[in-house]
Amino acid sequence: MQQMRSMLSVEEALDRILAVAAPLPAEAASIEDAVGRATAHEVRAGRTVPPWDTSAMDGFAVRSADVVRAPVRLQVIETIYAGQTPSRSIAPGECSRVMTGAPLPSGADAVVMQERTEGRGEREVEILEAAVPGSFVRARGEDAREGDLLLARGTEIGVAEAALLWSQGFSKVSVHRRPRVAVLSTGDELSSVEAAAAGKIIDSNSPTLALAAARCGAIATRLGIAKDSPEELARKLGALEGFDAVLTSGGVSVGGHDFVREALAAAGARMDFWKVAIKPGKPLAFGTRAGALFFGLPGNPTSSLVSFELFVRPALRRMLGHASAVVPRLGGRTEVEIRKPAGLTHFIRAAADWRDGELWVRPLETQSSGAIRSMVGATHFIVLPAATTEVSAGGAVMLQPVSWRQ
Ligand code: AMP
Ligand code: MG
Repeated sequence: MQQMRSMLSVEEALDRILAVAAPLPAEAASIEDAVGRATAHEVRAGRTVPPWDTSAMDGFAVRSADVVRAPVRLQVIETIYAGQTPSRSIAPGECSRVMTGAPLPSGADAVVMQERTEGRGEREVEILEAAVPGSFVRARGEDAREGDLLLARGTEIGVAEAALLWSQGFSKVSVHRRPRVAVLSTGDELSSVEAAAAGKIIDSNSPTLALAAARCGAIATRLGIAKDSPEELARKLGALEGFDAVLTSGGVSVGGHDFVREALAAAGARMDFWKVAIKPGKPLAFGTRAGALFFGLPGNPTSSLVSFELFVRPALRRMLGHASAVVPRLGGRTEVEIRKPAGLTHFIRAAADWRDGELWVRPLETQSSGAIRSMVGATHFIVLPAATTEVSAGGAVMLQPVSWRQ
């Protein structure tokens, strides 16, 4: 095993993880299945949308030169609905009645909305408002022209991007394949949610980490609970094949029964580091084996989920090819004074409100890394750098949004 530095800063640890997390191969996915993933190639328009100039209003398609001044009376030569093709072009003094989405007849270059007109029998209309070229016209290619760059590589597909792809007639898009993530809990004291034996601690980490991974776009497989036995752990970890990331929780600290680190090494993982200068979540083992990333997350439920958010999520986003692996931080103000010892970067679970033009944050009442309730209701981490020891009430703080509430 290589020499390991004892404690890395959060930035260093993340840099090392992202240095080895690589985008996975591309695959064609249905648009629905691509949501939350990132494009593996740029996407260009295959068609011009809309294909012709169309009316943006119910009204009258006119020659703007005829309606430089209003009121003016024009001959109505036909009515064109969306989906119909104009049969006649507009000559001076003429217009056609058009509905929203109808193609503009040739000769016309503007639309006057119906509310600015008055009918004068079947064949004539009084235009009450002047129009300029292009008024209420959706120009051909307003949304996209054939060949336009629509989505750069690495763009996350959300609902708007899906709409754009569908509007182009695409039913599939090239995205990076989903990371396959294995989740294993460790601890003699644990029992599964399903078994929930009295006197045992329920393994909430397995389903939680699997859920968090799935919400990042990964395919999570739960491997259950391993005993605190170095042999069993090494055997289980050694047997894992076909995963892009393996998440264990518990047994990664310095207690007498904390065997995960040595089991990972015994299972052939090249360990990179095993401690990060953060709170919560200081014990965190990270290594790689044959392209798979191994994360030994702490057992405390809050520590494990915070570590997931800080380190695993960016790694999964990188594997999914997202242009940005990390969420941008923001500035805010703390409602209350916060104190901490120097040394570790603290990630304080907090709830934010927008008030008086600023984001105000209040740390949740409990900050114990053993208490899951220290995360419930949190919208942001207040990130207090290692050297910081005090922020007074009203002081500026750095905030990192949490993904749990999305
Ligand atoms: P460890 O990191 O193994 O020392 O565990 C730290 C604390 O987290 C202990 O109180 C464990 O009982 C608890 N813990 C460990 N694994 C889990 C888990 N999968 N679900 C819930 N609590 C856990
Ligand atoms: Mg344990």
